[in-house]
Amino acid sequence: MNYKIAVIPGDGIGPEVTREAVKVLDAVAKKFGHTFEYNYLLAGGAAIDEKGKCLPEETVKAAKDSDAVLLGAVGGPKWDNLPGEERPEKALLGLRKALGLFANLRPAIMFDELKGACPLKEEKVEGGLDILVVRELTGGIYFGERGVKDTDDMGKAAYDVEMYSEKEVERVAEIAFSMAMKRNKKVTSVDKANVLESSRLWRKTTAKVAEKYPEVSLENFYVDNAAMQLVYNPKQFDVIVTSNIFGDILSDEASMITGSIGMLPSASLAEGEFGMYEPVHGSAPDIAGTGKANPMAAVLSAAMMLKYTFGLSEESDAIENAVKKVLGEGYRTPDIMTEGKTLITTSEAGTLIADRI
Ligand code: NAD
Repeated sequence: MNYKIAVIPGDGIGPEVTREAVKVLDAVAKKFGHTFEYNYLLAGGAAIDEKGKCLPEETVKAAKDSDAVLLGAVGGPKWDNLPGEERPEKALLGLRKALGLFANLRPAIMFDELKGACPLKEEKVEGGLDILVVRELTGGIYFGERGVKDTDDMGKAAYDVEMYSEKEVERVAEIAFSMAMKRNKKVTSVDKANVLESSRLWRKTTAKVAEKYPEVSLENFYVDNAAMQLVYNPKQFDVIVTSNIFGDILSDEASMITGSIGMLPSASLAEGEFGMYEPVHGSAPDIAGTGKANPMAAVLSAAMMLKYTFGLSEESDAIENAVKKVLGEGYRTPDIMTEGKTLITTSEAGTLIADRI
């Protein structure tokens, strides 16, 4: 099969880790007889330097014309003094909106080989961890009405509105339940239905979607309890589905449990099969150009792309297994280095993984 992939390397370590992800994809193509056609596009600081804006129209158009997008990271000190609207990070919001990416998937997987990096007691994570956080990405308080107004006696007041429609909740819940069907068949929906009207609609709508998936069990947690349970008993979770703001916070908490940020992939999905895949980390300007970046988050993002957009589960598993093998053989980039292990560079990590496909 022939697949068209838009590659947006971005800034800082973005191009370095993306290069390794492409190296691994090439190894997959060779082994399984696929053709991956890469279309390299500009976004972020690199686009500002070359085209004068962080998200040129041609990037959006070409991304839409592709089957999936693989992104590195954007941003860096060089562009930090630009006004908000012109900053490289704005390109991410622009891409999410233009591509209709309404669901963000962040797996928090703890590789047994790296359990030393987990900040929780060993008995809490015995046997490893595999949680998938599904966060609504284009609605809720981050996109609601906002404003500042004067009050009679309390000075200025500012507000941001949290609003969700049934359709918005339904489509993200559908994703969570269909993911759970391929996993351990459990969905935890997180809200604040004891206080918020929008959460009560969220809960009702999620329950309705659950009726279509009798094999999947649904439980509802208030967000404060979910935050607590994630560190108290993280193994109870399979798929967590939640709103934009709660997901923003809980997905960071869940991923910290697993240790290094250099290991965490993510996917943002649109209606249908289309998706944008990127590591959770940023452009890490402090280590850019030194060969110290861990490319595994980018490589695992490419694995997610194969599974969720292209439906190539076997190929995706081959990448995950190759990463585990490299870790099992004791190879480590500096961010996950421990005593007695073999230190490797960004490019060596990519080559070792590609060789094990
Ligand atoms: P960051 O994720 O870039 O870095 C945080 C820390 O983690 C740094 O010490 C860095 O060296 C380390 N780190 C990150 N990725 C690593 C990897 N693959 N291997 C080894 N170490 C790694 O976050 P930050 O420092 O807050 O942000 C730096 C820039 O990135 C900023 O301009 C920010 O706006 C941008 N950013 C972009 C994205 C994105 O493109 N999706 C996300 C977050 C931050």
